[in-house]
Amino acid sequence: MALKADAFGAGERVVVIGLGRSGAASCDVLRSRGATVFATDEKDPSALRGVLGELERSGATFVPPAEIERIAGELTSAILSPGVPLTNPIVRRIQAARIPVYSEIEVAYRICAAPIVAVSGTKGKTTTTALIGELFRHAARKTRVGGNIGNALIAETAVATADEWVIAEVSSFQLEAIRAFKPRISALLNIRPDHLDRYHSMEEYAEAKFRIFANQGPGDAFVGNLDDPRIGAMAEGDGASRIPARAYWFGLSPRRMTTLYVRGDRITYAPPTGDPRPVEIMPVSEIPLVGEHNVANVLAALLVGIVAGIDPQKLREGVRGFHPLPHRLQPIATQNGVLYVDDSKSTNPGSVIAALESFDRPIVLIAGGKSKRTDFRAMGEAIDRKAKAAVLIGEAADEIAGAILAAQIVRAASMDEAVATARSLAREGDVVLLSPGCASFDMFASAEERGETFGRAVASEAALRG
Ligand code: ADP
Repeated sequence: MALKADAFGAGERVVVIGLGRSGAASCDVLRSRGATVFATDEKDPSALRGVLGELERSGATFVPPAEIERIAGELTSAILSPGVPLTNPIVRRIQAARIPVYSEIEVAYRICAAPIVAVSGTKGKTTTTALIGELFRHAARKTRVGGNIGNALIAETAVATADEWVIAEVSSFQLEAIRAFKPRISALLNIRPDHLDRYHSMEEYAEAKFRIFANQGPGDAFVGNLDDPRIGAMAEGDGASRIPARAYWFGLSPRRMTTLYVRGDRITYAPPTGDPRPVEIMPVSEIPLVGEHNVANVLAALLVGIVAGIDPQKLREGVRGFHPLPHRLQPIATQNGVLYVDDSKSTNPGSVIAALESFDRPIVLIAGGKSKRTDFRAMGEAIDRKAKAAVLIGEAADEIAGAILAAQIVRAASMDEAVATARSLAREGDVVLLSPGCASFDMFASAEERGETFGRAVASEAALRG
């Protein structure tokens, strides 16, 4: 474990690249470990004012990007915040000065005394990570949850002790820049077209995700979705040798390699070794989340729990007690018999399809936003099959409209207008579903803000009519 010996502490001089929430947390952690800390960010200093004050108080020094070379000679390493790609010009210049650049999850791992469960996939990461955290806590395991989920991973791993577990949500961007990062249990949920604005091909994107198990060994475990073609291809045959950890597979139906699957209405565990008799874990109907995709997320979380040795009864209770997270197929209101659902975190066509498949009642869909160069054809087909109307917003409206053949199409210039239109089209028993399938940045600061704007529009419409 020579690599883990890097202390990121006294005597080291580190620059943190990118001053979002994780960057600020990295500065704090490194300072508290005794390192000399610099920080840089290409954002305009006026946009960073709040963070800069905090930085100074913690004893770190801000260095404008133009002055990086001035300090490069004295640096021992650089830490890359989650939002910053390896191709960023500041990163390139630091690498050119022969300073090793580590991603935040890499440093978080190297300073961590606790075993890590790492969860990745195109969609379902936050839901599954939060659920695993709940399952572990319910089973009285001391547990910390971090990563993209809202709190920086490094802030959690810096204080985690050996008797705790750290459950980490990790993105493909962060996995790109790992070197020794080695989770005790890794889980891959699915790999679908997304972020093709950043990756040249699906293969390149999938390879970034596969780095989650790259440093694992036979004493570690990998949990994979057998139903996903790219992930499932590693279950048997030539692909199997790619995974250096012990692999466990889940799927929505019983198959030769599935350890956890659904048979009838029952989630069932078939131990891969020893007593082969299947054990029923719980009925699918007890899952408090809508949609088949969420059944897959629950299977992933349950299988991680089983691999970690948690009692099946505790797992069942933990799932039953879980609540949908905000902006992920979250029912927010029922008005005049119409259910309003906020799925603002749906940022690619795959999640729109998953959302549409989750309801057996007429749907008025609100979709659109900033496109990520994805193909909307399959989403258009699902809209034709499941939605009676699509209210389209944002830059991608024309592209999406071009993929819809049967459903009614209406354009709206704002979220208020979209909700008003959807409301006029919906009848008692229908669902008004915000599931944009696109990024939010053309109209909103974030997917959260988009969901909150939707929620406010729904509430104010109700007020108008009430
Ligand atoms: P992530 O953290 O990977 O973005 P979330 O759990 O935050 O995933 O969910 C984001 C969006 O993706 C929501 O719209 C949710 O309903 C949808 N979603 C969740 N799990 C899946 C899945 N397995 N397949 C497709 N869509 C999913």
